[in-house]
Amino acid sequence: MRFIPQGLFVNVVCSLFLCNCFIFRCVRIEKKNMQFFTITKISSIFILKIKLYKVNMRVKFFFSMLLITMLLGCGDSDSRMVLQPGVSKKLAQERAGLIGNLSYDIRFNIPKGCNEKVDGYEIITFDFKRDLGQVVLDFTGDASSIKNVMCNEKEIAYELINEHIVISSKYLKKRGNRIAIKFLAGDQALNRKDDLMYTLLVPDRARTVFPCFDQPDLKAYFKLELDLPKGWTAISNASIADSVTTSGSRTTFKFQQSDLISTYLFSFTAGKFSKAQKEIDGKKYAVLYRENDAKKVAQNLDSIFYMVDYSVRWMERYTGILYPFQKYDLAIIPFFQFSGMEHPGSVFYVDSKMFLAESATQPEKIARAELIAHETAHLWFGDLVTMPWFDDVWMKEVFAGFFADKIVKELFPSVNSDLQFLIAHAPKAYSEDRTKGTNPIKQRLENLNLAGTMYGNIIYHKAPIVIRSLEKLMGQYAFQNALREYLRTYSLGNASWGDLVKIFDKHARFSVKDWSKSWVESAGMPIYAYDVYYKDSVGCGIVLRQKLPSEIRLPYLQLIEFTKLVHHKGTSQSALLGKKGGKEQVLIFPKCRRNNDCFIPNSNGFGYGYFELDSLKCASIVRHYQNLKNPVHRASCIVTLYENMLNGNFDGKSMLALLVRVVEYEKNELLISMSLDYLLSANLYFISKDDAATREMVECSLWNAYSHTNDNKLKIQYLRTIAKVMHSEKSARKMHEIWSHEVVSDNRWIGEMDLQNFAFELCIRMPEESSSILNVTRKSIKNIDNLRRFNFISQAVDPKKIVRDKLFESLLHLENRKQEAWVADALKLLNHPLRNDESEEYLAKGLSILPEIQQTGDIFFPKNWLSSLLYGHTSADDYAIVCGYISKEGKSISPSLLSKVYQCSDLLKRSTSIASKK
Ligand SMILES: [Zn+2]
Repeated sequence: MRFIPQGLFVNVVCSLFLCNCFIFRCVRIEKKNMQFFTITKISSIFILKIKLYKVNMRVKFFFSMLLITMLLGCGDSDSRMVLQPGVSKKLAQERAGLIGNLSYDIRFNIPKGCNEKVDGYEIITFDFKRDLGQVVLDFTGDASSIKNVMCNEKEIAYELINEHIVISSKYLKKRGNRIAIKFLAGDQALNRKDDLMYTLLVPDRARTVFPCFDQPDLKAYFKLELDLPKGWTAISNASIADSVTTSGSRTTFKFQQSDLISTYLFSFTAGKFSKAQKEIDGKKYAVLYRENDAKKVAQNLDSIFYMVDYSVRWMERYTGILYPFQKYDLAIIPFFQFSGMEHPGSVFYVDSKMFLAESATQPEKIARAELIAHETAHLWFGDLVTMPWFDDVWMKEVFAGFFADKIVKELFPSVNSDLQFLIAHAPKAYSEDRTKGTNPIKQRLENLNLAGTMYGNIIYHKAPIVIRSLEKLMGQYAFQNALREYLRTYSLGNASWGDLVKIFDKHARFSVKDWSKSWVESAGMPIYAYDVYYKDSVGCGIVLRQKLPSEIRLPYLQLIEFTKLVHHKGTSQSALLGKKGGKEQVLIFPKCRRNNDCFIPNSNGFGYGYFELDSLKCASIVRHYQNLKNPVHRASCIVTLYENMLNGNFDGKSMLALLVRVVEYEKNELLISMSLDYLLSANLYFISKDDAATREMVECSLWNAYSHTNDNKLKIQYLRTIAKVMHSEKSARKMHEIWSHEVVSDNRWIGEMDLQNFAFELCIRMPEESSSILNVTRKSIKNIDNLRRFNFISQAVDPKKIVRDKLFESLLHLENRKQEAWVADALKLLNHPLRNDESEEYLAKGLSILPEIQQTGDIFFPKNWLSSLLYGHTSADDYAIVCGYISKEGKSISPSLLSKVYQCSDLLKRSTSIASKK
């Protein structure tokens, strides 16, 4: 972005050029090695354009200074609005002060074929608080996409500059302006198929579909009309009005006016859906879905309605605010690229996480409840009160996640909620926070077109841990009262983290502003080291020290618990670290027996950070692991040991041996699930490829665990892990036997998606049988959406390299990446660990299109693309390719994209570094 400084004095150069003091706008467009500046006079008397091609630096500097001088001389603030592509922060801030009483009346004609264009027509109504300057709408369509622009009933001239429609204020009045635009909608965010489409406009995709003021703090009322092929149905933010008409082969749906919402929350989905409705104690819910397995639908729908209603009522009780929107409908969409999206009135969910198989595991059931509660909590945090700018997008995510955890705790009373919280958040938060690519929870954002890169595990998993810690420090009632005040104060409006911190500070007994500086506004995490000392008269003590990253001046304030274990008994002590700037704390434990005690750092999992252990401390924890009665202590030990393994303090083989022991003997399903995830990564990155004995030991233990349980929910977890790690022919044959029996069975205990995934893994191990494996699987698939996915991904496991190469090459082109979830799955199989010799050439090419992936993909896609691309590449040569890319392109790609590269290559970096030291 270019920021043009303000100035009041009239410059001589300016007066020479512009004696009438015209309003000027400066636009700088950069295209590869071509640059040109355009100076345009808005008053339409004349347009002066100076184009400079391949100018040298001196000439560029001269003209830059000249332009700045002219602007300093006579521009008002409108003229300084920098019109760069996207929505710049500067543009958004200026516009927020000018536009009021905003509403959109929009009509879309959706043709039957998904390759035909969508016609759109809209009337934007608003007040405008300025006589001078211009009004700037956002729209990414080109000139041919805009058919006609009318302003206050007159056809007018406009300019199309860098994804903006610019209209002179001379056509505008103070109140009730009506801009009517006929346009062709862009397809990028319409997710169209022949019998289904849905919008996904977060964070700044509304402007790809229709001209609008695409920023979260210009909330508006939307009135939608959809002209659809006959037989389609639709939902949107508001209910369908009475005037639904049918003529010929088309149906028109007219919706009522929506509630006051931001553009990124405007939504509709249309297509061939089944519909179900439910009323629970006076609240009505409706769901659109495409799953055609009647048994599966019957098994799941009631639970879905129940959890939606439970979450709504829980949020009403906690916030003291009744459900704030007209209705709560759901659309369950196949292969939706997110897990869910919280559009008021039409909340979208991905079908794979909603319609669970009969064999669904406890973590899957909890994940579904968590997802429903998360999206529902957003209706208050995000939808009712919205961040003014996407740099605070983390706020809506953290509170949605925070309340989801509380709601799930009640929905699953038998589940250990502290364990669930630790397992759900800590491993994922550390997976990014330990890397060079970590970022503060609150990030800077200069342009909305980079908002997608704000999302990640820091927002979704570190922030909930940090906010839970804040609640513990403040006390739950003070915390709840502050949140209630925040929601009441800013209802239907916008509020930033700064606004909330001010309210927190009124309710807390410490400075939340200071707390925020280290936890929210700084990147990275605290590192803790500790020493144990013994004094016969007192017992023993732990000196816990906090090492601060150099850029952090204030220590991290948090409560940390240590547990001392003697035989089977544990005693716990907590320390408040960081109080009044202190970086050290002593915990006293009475009755210590020298060398016989085991200390577990962060035993309750409430603390956040890296707890550094030496080899003796690691060995002591491993030795005492089986004596730990509390599952939270066991989980916390595994997390701490794994982090120490990644830092070279604990051997990979010993880690794997512990995980195998856990998998074989652990009874807690959540702990088994977490250990299997860690086992996969330790096995892939920290065991040598030649270490056949360890690999065999892992496979044997997993099969043992599989055969010793009768619980299908556990069996499926073991099978999923075996499918990924199996090396021996014996394992592959055993897996094939199970798969071939299930895939043709009418009474399956393994879900369809698992069977497809097992088939892909088997094809890689049994290339000579791959075509029959794929054919049998294909015949077993009853759902058309699943069949489409299967056919797409099958190409990635073809035994012929030439077929896989062709698929990979096709993924480099945007038109073949429309189904991003499928693309990520296919790319992962193309880069399978067993084929990494043949896929090494994909690495450099896949990395080279990252900026395009960022520009064209949905918010989670850049990271998904990278994770899939790097999956299976574990050698020093592979890491050298990544390093080569970083040194060549690191400075030219956006910092947030570079950070994703660091995050996704962190395990590869650590494994090569540890291997090189051996
Ligand atoms: Zn969310």
